[in-house]
Amino acid sequence: ERMTMAEGALAARMGRLGTESAFEVLARANALAAQGRDIINLGIGQPDFPTPPHIVEAAVRALRDGQHGYSPANGLPALREAVAADVRTYRGVEIDPGRVVIVPGGKVTMAFAMLLFGEAGAEILYPNPGFPIYESMIRFSGATPVPIPLYEASGFSFDADEVLSKITDRTRLIILNSPANPTGGVVPRAEFDNLVAGLERFPHVHVMSDEIYSRMTYDGERHVSLLDYESLRERLIVLDGWSKTYAMTGWRLGWGYWPAALVEPVTRLCINVHSCVNAPTQFAGIAALKGPQDAAEAMVAAFDERRAVIVDGLNRLPGVRCARPKGAFYAFPNIAGTGLDARTMQDRLLAEAGVAVIAGTSFGAHGEGFVRFSYANSIANIEAALGRVGDFLGSL
Ligand code: PLP
Repeated sequence: ERMTMAEGALAARMGRLGTESAFEVLARANALAAQGRDIINLGIGQPDFPTPPHIVEAAVRALRDGQHGYSPANGLPALREAVAADVRTYRGVEIDPGRVVIVPGGKVTMAFAMLLFGEAGAEILYPNPGFPIYESMIRFSGATPVPIPLYEASGFSFDADEVLSKITDRTRLIILNSPANPTGGVVPRAEFDNLVAGLERFPHVHVMSDEIYSRMTYDGERHVSLLDYESLRERLIVLDGWSKTYAMTGWRLGWGYWPAALVEPVTRLCINVHSCVNAPTQFAGIAALKGPQDAAEAMVAAFDERRAVIVDGLNRLPGVRCARPKGAFYAFPNIAGTGLDARTMQDRLLAEAGVAVIAGTSFGAHGEGFVRFSYANSIANIEAALGRVGDFLGSL
């Protein structure tokens, strides 16, 4: 049958919208588990810890106290002030709470940046391999995605000169992410210095720094925030949130720092899209930032311990080589030596070994030859998974 023009346009538009394959692999893993298969899930990127109880209590209290209505579209003032205080503590810089906009999850800051900057003819630079939502949302907005290739040899950091060389008159936004998903890479300060210095030649370009893993660094590595660069402040968006730091992925709470000129338009986007984040979740967010940090710190210590187990284990496997990731909770081994491509490795590990991992190509074309293992799982499960992967590779 012939598609109507409207159907064709809709199909073309939806064809540009990608996905996050961790959710699809999770669904396949769950379906296999429901059939009785024993699946170890190292696919999904979420802490395997419950939200700390004092945070849960704050939300329950707010519900009992009658926090059932709309609240300010840009977020509760007390929460935005708590974010500014947190930025002072962990990033060592002063920000105006008036520049913070609270949203339902870190992803929403990204979506709003795309609504503001993405349009046909615009070019947006993004890390590749990188969080798949970047490329998906850039394409969906109508803009042209321009990959910033990340290389194993440089610890999956970017090369500032290479980034600058990709800027044209049509470039609107550069997306950066450190510590990074899926590689665990951390960008060294010198590389940010070079990039920010070079950006002075391109005042038409904004930068979005995805700092959702800012609290998860290892080996004494200190997170470098782009908020450190005063000269960038009027064209900088910072994305962060509670999902990873406080094991709150399902609550849907995030914050964005915006240039002064964009705070009002972004607040209007909030009003148009979701009105406000539900108040109990925002009270939970306040408790998270202002309460004891021991649970958040213990979680990072646990990830650090698991990081050693998974990296050493992966490096013992035939055909596999894994750099030591400096941040987040992902290992991104090079599997080229196994003779399997990334997608085949992902599908066969799930089907034949009962281990869910994500193909590097799910994070962009530059992820070929790599697979992402999330080590947000127990040491027992990580060791069992490594054993199964070893048996599978031995049988090839
Ligand atoms: N940015 C990166 C790099 C991520 O890995 C994730 C989650 O996987 C997000 C943003 C989204 O976080 P949230 O769950 O708060 O939307």
